[in-house]
Parts: sequence; C-alpha cells; structure tokens
Amino acid sequence: GLDGAWTRRWIEAIAAEIATRKSELTALDRAIGDGDHGENLDRGFQAVLGKLDGLDDAPTPGAVLKLVATTLISTVGGAAGPLYGTAFLKAAMAAGDRPELDATGLVEVLTAARDGIVARGKAEPNDKTMVDAWGPAVEAAGAAGDDVRAVLEAAASAAAEGAIATEPLVAHKGRASYLGERAIGHRDPGAESTALILRVAADTQ
Ligand code: ADP
Ligand code: MG
Ligand code: MG
Repeated sequence: GLDGAWTRRWIEAIAAEIATRKSELTALDRAIGDGDHGENLDRGFQAVLGKLDGLDDAPTPGAVLKLVATTLISTVGGAAGPLYGTAFLKAAMAAGDRPELDATGLVEVLTAARDGIVARGKAEPNDKTMVDAWGPAVEAAGAAGDDVRAVLEAAASAAAEGAIATEPLVAHKGRASYLGERAIGHRDPGAESTALILRVAADTQ
C-alpha cells in the first residue's frame, strides 16, 4: 500500500514538477484566463515544501494530505486555491488515520477529492474545468482493480485524456466562461495541472 512516506515523496515531486512546468500552466491560463495558474500553484506547493519537515517522523497519508490542504488554502488565492485545498482536505478526511492506502482506500481518497471540488465549484462534466480531468480519473481508478500501481496509472492516463478533451469545449465556470466561443481550441489550465498531479503520483515509487 501507499504509506505516509510515499505520500510525502508524491507531494515533493508535485512541487518539483510544477516549478518546472509553471510557465506552461501559466501560458494556458493566459489564453483563457488571467495568466497566473502556474504561479499560483508554484507559490502554494513551495510553501508546502517548507512545512513538510514539521510533520512527524512517520506521518500517515492523511496527515500529509491535511498539511497540503491547509497550506494551499492559506497561500493560493483565486479559484484553484480553494478548489485544490478542498480536494486535499476531503482526501485527508477519507484517508483518516490509516497507515497505508490499498487500492480501495486510494479510490476512496480520489473520489473524495473529486467530490470536494464538485461540491465547492459546482462544475459539471464538460464545463471545461479541472473536473474534466478528475471525473475520468476517478472512473478509471475505480475500474482498475486491486493493484495500487494500476489504479494510479489508470487515474493518470484518464486525467491526461480528460485534460486534452477540454480543448474543443466552451467554458461554463471560472474566468474562461467570460470568453464564450473564444475559449474553444484551448486546454483548461486546471485540468492540465490535475493531470500533472496524477501523472506524478503514478511515477512516484
Ligand atoms: P483564477 O481563475 O482565479 O485566476 P487559477 O488560474 O489558479 O484561478 O485557476 C483556474 C482554474 O480553476 C481553471 O482552469 C479551472 O480548471 C478551475 N476552475 C475555475 N472555476 C472552477 C469551478 N467552479 N469548478 C472547478 N474548477 C474551476
Ligand atoms: Mg488564473
Ligand atoms: Mg487569478
């Protein structure tokens, strides 16, 4: 199963990958938003990195996820901060105090994250938001069987496809919704950052 040490390595890898791809995420947001998505997430995950050493020696996955949630909520503004903050908070609650997540636990955590984003942002499928990556990821994860690595890989692949599938859509939530048909042809930045987060999970050993 996935323990707290794995969860910490995942979060550290997210921070590194966002730092690397910050300008790419921001360029997506410049096309259909206000051009700050990469900076917003980089600020948040760099702040998370600074707090990880305050964790216990052997934290539970839930404790790591809760630290991420509270840090993102307090350091990332805009739409994505509260949405990802809620996702990690609900994920932490679903993980509870279990020392490890097996495939079933992992699917519960991913489902809670998706449900938290939907409850907070009220986006529906095909509204051209991060929900279009989370939704397919959770569906694929639930169908991937009882091997955690297979669940992670299924979620990552489905999120990537979901992010690409936002390109032809008109947006119905967030800043991109102000653009009407001018949003067509552009990938949603939040769907792409969700795909990044889940790809990094699948690649974290
Ligand atoms: P802001 O739009 O406030 O500058 P960001 O640029 O950090 O915030 O994040 C924009 C992303 O947030 C969008 O690409 C979209 O994926 C996501 N988003 C915006 N509104 C919603 C919503 N209501 N539900 C789900 N996701 C949303
Ligand atoms: Mg923005
Ligand atoms: Mg903004």
